[in-house]
Amino acid sequence: MKDYKSLLVNTSLKITPQRLALLKEIDKKGHANIDELYREIQKQFPTISLATIYKNITSLQEAGVISEICIHQKPKYEIKKHPHAHFICKNCGKIIDVPFDELVSEEIERRYPNSQKELYIYGLCKECNGNS
Ligand SMILES: [Zn+2]
Ligand SMILES: [Zn+2]
Repeated sequence: MKDYKSLLVNTSLKITPQRLALLKEIDKKGHANIDELYREIQKQFPTISLATIYKNITSLQEAGVISEICIHQKPKYEIKKHPHAHFICKNCGKIIDVPFDELVSEEIERRYPNSQKELYIYGLCKECNGNS
């Protein structure tokens, strides 16, 4: 199991069981939206409100621990890692991380500093392709 505490140590955020649970869920799912996270976190913290989840997600995002990706108008969250592109299956909606050359990312940063770099590729995943 990953040490989620270490993700929070270098931020100004307090380490709380709720935040650790959120990070663990996001990491487990790879990419998760608020509803999915709310459902899972509620199992461990039955009294937690959706507003609290939102608040924690926002602070984790502001601290640069997680990043937001916007797919089908619904934001999903993932643990922040090196730049990568997202492959989205047009059939089942699965999201897969695909490598995105660091050089491309650096070049974009050079031309457009502080830009939000998101790259989406749409197609059919292996499973959906095989079944067609
Ligand atoms: Zn698919
Ligand atoms: Zn991703």
